[in-house]
Parts: sequence; structure tokens; C-alpha cells
Amino acid sequence: MPDIRALKLIASRTITSKEDSASLKILQIYLVCIVVYLMFVVPLSNKIVEVKTQTLLQEIESQFDHYIEQFSYLLTPSSSGRSCKENLPDLRKSIFNSDRVKEIGIFDQNGQIYCTSNNGDTSFYLYQTIMNRLETSSTHATLSYTRTKFSRTKSIALIFRNETGQGLSILIPPRYLIRHINQALSDSSVNYRIEVISRNLSEQLFDEGMTQFKVKSDKYPLALDVSTTLNYYIIQFFHYCWVPLLLASLISIYYILSLHNKRNNNSLENSLRFAISNDYFELHYQPIVNLQSGNTVGCESLLRWKDPSQGYISPDIFIPLAEKVNLIEDITKLVLGKVSLFLVENASLLSSVYISVNISRSVILKPSFVTFIDELVNTQPTLASKIVLEITEDNNFSQNELGTLKIHLDKLSKHGFRFAVDDFGTGYSGLDFIRQFPFDFVKIDRVFVKSLYDDSTIIPLLNSMMSLATQLNMKTIVEGVEEASQLEILNRLGFVYIQGYYYSKPLPQEELIAFLT
Ligand code: C2E
Ligand code: CA
Ligand code: CA
Repeated sequence: MPDIRALKLIASRTITSKEDSASLKILQIYLVCIVVYLMFVVPLSNKIVEVKTQTLLQEIESQFDHYIEQFSYLLTPSSSGRSCKENLPDLRKSIFNSDRVKEIGIFDQNGQIYCTSNNGDTSFYLYQTIMNRLETSSTHATLSYTRTKFSRTKSIALIFRNETGQGLSILIPPRYLIRHINQALSDSSVNYRIEVISRNLSEQLFDEGMTQFKVKSDKYPLALDVSTTLNYYIIQFFHYCWVPLLLASLISIYYILSLHNKRNNNSLENSLRFAISNDYFELHYQPIVNLQSGNTVGCESLLRWKDPSQGYISPDIFIPLAEKVNLIEDITKLVLGKVSLFLVENASLLSSVYISVNISRSVILKPSFVTFIDELVNTQPTLASKIVLEITEDNNFSQNELGTLKIHLDKLSKHGFRFAVDDFGTGYSGLDFIRQFPFDFVKIDRVFVKSLYDDSTIIPLLNSMMSLATQLNMKTIVEGVEEASQLEILNRLGFVYIQGYYYSKPLPQEELIAFLT
């Protein structure tokens, strides 16, 4: 029997091509993602440059912090009382060991620089503005940008002092700072300048660009100015444009998959409707045999979808679909119609044979179904006693539904219908379910027969099912019996009614007639 692929093939015949609108939709998804991205690209790029500027300033600050740490040892309590001559070797040694610092001067509480590494004894005072900044700085450190006295080149002076009031002035050429910033910002198409007390360190002019960011240091009179250019935004746009593209692709994939599913379902539903209205269905009947006498006591009707090109399609595939799309009631009515006709047309052959019909949970709960049965019985009153309705043991019935089920079964049993619990032992409702309702048969599921051999652990289970059925005055039917050995064990255990390939597969109507005669 063909599988779900066959069903899909049938379905594909009814799929109407809407590929054009789908590609349009996908185009829309990409466009929307790009437009949204465009809306965010400027604020995002601004945020990036802002964060970058802040990080850069922090790096520069920590470089200065590092110098202070590195040279603080020169300011020991003893050094304050020492003459320049005594301090000089240490000052020179520290310059020698540092690759960036070019000169160090040491000053006293009054701000008088009395000794420098390059010139030894000297005497000049720090500007009052510098002294004021040192006074107000929380770290007792400040910067100045001046021409050095002797070399006449411009240098950054890092000036700091300790608790005793004496301090150091460290001269650092600005090129190291400029190089550091150059490296960090050079390839991002932004303009920048670094200011020490409002003086630009680099020679270049600063272009204010499109958006400007200025971050100021809390520790030093130091600021970093960055401005963006159009080029910067273009670079950022291309740099991150994989994000909206990836997002659009993911959304498109999701869209295509859901569209595919929807179309499949829709078209499967259409195919099923088409099959119902064109009666592409055929009933097969599987005999239920008394193993002692060999007589057929009943037949289970099993529906097949007979597609003109795909052949038979299994109910395991189309029944769940019919349930999902609300066609199961129509299908059940169709089955009952066929069964009734078969019973009427072969009344004498089937005089001692009943036919069972599978009724889904959702169908038995419908008042419209009960009305349908009422009408059927009104036209053919003898039918009811020939039909057994199979209802699967199901723990999904709510308390309310159980109430409805009881009302419906009582009503139908008054007409003379009998009932069977199908697939017994596979659900979890167990005792409670079968005790509450007027079932006549228990159909033991084929999973219990599959691994049935002499010392199998299934035997005690089968025994208890049998005694339960006897207690409740129900007949047992064992499904799925395929081998003589299984039959023999079941016989020994006291089971009488058997349905399975051992006796017969489900047969088309004509073959069943031949089987019975
Ligand atoms: P089910 O009610 O348990 O039906 C018995 C299934 O076991 C049938 O499968 C039958 O062919 C299979 N079977 C019988 N003897 C043996 C055996 O010895 N070995 C094995 N391996 N299998 C055996 P089928 O015909 O494919 O039906 C599958 C299910 O579809 C049925 O299970 C029933 O739940 C559902 N179904 C069939 N027809 C209808 C219908 O008209 N209405 C509803 N609601 N469900 C139906
Ligand atoms: Ca069944
Ligand atoms: Ca069954």
C-alpha cells in the first residue's frame, strides 16, 4: 500500500501555482529587513564610534597611570631631603630604562624644579595654573603641553606629586600617543584629535564631519574628539549588512516552510474532499473467526482510499488527516452507508455474521451522528443488530465527554447496536472506561500477540484481561494473530474469537463473499 508520499503526489495535482506571489513576498521580506537596517545603521554606527572613543581615552589614561606607577619610586621620603646631585643617578637610570620618557624633573613643595635628568641642578617654577590643577586633581596628577626648555620641541609633561608635596615632571613626546590613536582609528574613516588642556596634539586640522563625539578624561586635562564622515557610515553599512541579510534569509526560510505546509495541508484536504465526493473509497472486510468451530462470526470493515493513479492508501494516513480537517464524520457516514448496503444485499450469506465499524472518538460525541444513525435505523430497522461499533479505548475523554459518550451509547444500544472496545490495553483508561459503558466485546490489541510465545511474560497479562472480560460479561477478540503457534497458546488460554492474517487479511467485498461461501 502506498505511503504518505503517494498522498502528497495526489495532493500536488491540486496545488495551484502561486510561486510568483511567494517570490514577491520574499522580496518584500528582504526589502523590509534592509530598510529597517538602514534606519538603524546611523544610530548604531554612532554608538560604535562613541564606545570606541571612550575605550581609547581609557587606554590613554591608563598609560599615564602606568607612568606614575613606574616612576613613583623616585619620590621616597628620603629623596626630599636629598640634593640634586644625590637624586641625579636615580633620575638618569630611570630615563635610561624607559624607552618613551625623555626627561624627568623633580620639584619640591613650592613647585620649584630643582633637578632634571638632563641638566642636573636647575631652578624654575611650575606655572601657577599647573599648581592649581595639581591642587584640585583627585589623583594629584595633571598634564601640560609645552615646549621643552632646551630641545625646544613640544612635549607632554605628566606632572604629579605625593603626599609630602614633592613631585615629578615627566616629559613624553606626543608622537607615541598620536601613533596609538592612529592605529586604533586609522581605517575607520573618522576624523579625530587629542587635546591636552584644549591644545591639539596633532598637526592636522580637525574636520567636524557629520556627527561629533567628545569624551573627556576625569583624571587628566585630556579630551578625545572624534567626528564621523559619510565614508564611515558606508563602511559600517557594508560591514554589518550580513545581519539583515541573514535575518531576511531566516525569515524567508520560515515563510517558505510554513507556506509549503499550509499548501500541502490545504491540497491534501481538497484531495480528500474530492475523494469523498467522487467515492474513491472502498471497504475491505477482515473475518473474525471462532477458533474452535472455524466459523466466521463477524467481519471488521476497514476503509481504503483507492486513488485512480496511486492505488490503495492506508487508513493510518488518511484517517488522522480526516480527523484534523473535520471530514471524519462524513467518512464514517460513508462507511456506514456501504456496510448497510452490503448487509442488505447479502442478508442470507451474512445471516450469522456481524460487521464492525470503526467510530472515532470525535464522531461518537457528535449529536448529528446520532441523528444520522436514528434515520438509518428508521429506514432499515434490522441493521442495528448486525452492526458492532468499535470505539478505541481512549484516556483523552474529558469528564463532560464521558457523560455525552454514555448518553449516546445508551441511545444507540436501545436501537440494538453492540459495541466493542478497540485496541484494548494500549490506552491508560483501563478498567474504569470499560466498566462504565455497555460494551459487548473487548478487542485485545495486536501488540500483545506480537511477542507471544510459551514462556512469554505477556501470558499473565492476557490471563487477567480474559478474567476481566468474563467478569464484565464481554467477549474477547484477539487481533493480529498471524501464526499457528500464537493461535495454539491463545486457545490454551481460553480465547475463542480471533482476527488476524492467520485466517485472512482484510478482503475486498467479492473476496469476502468467496471466503464465506
Ligand atoms: P484497527 O481498527 O486496529 O484495525 C486493525 C488493523 O490491523 C487493520 O489495519 C488491519 O489490516 C490490521 N491487521 C489485521 N490483522 C493483522 C495481522 O495479523 N497482522 C498485522 N500486522 N496487522 C493486522 P488497517 O486496515 O490498515 O487499518 C488501520 C486503522 O485505521 C484501523 O486500526 C482503524 O483504527 C483505522 N480505520 C480503518 N478503517 C476505518 C474507518 O472506517 N473509520 C475509522 N474511524 N477508522 C478506520
Ligand atoms: Ca478497529
Ligand atoms: Ca484494533
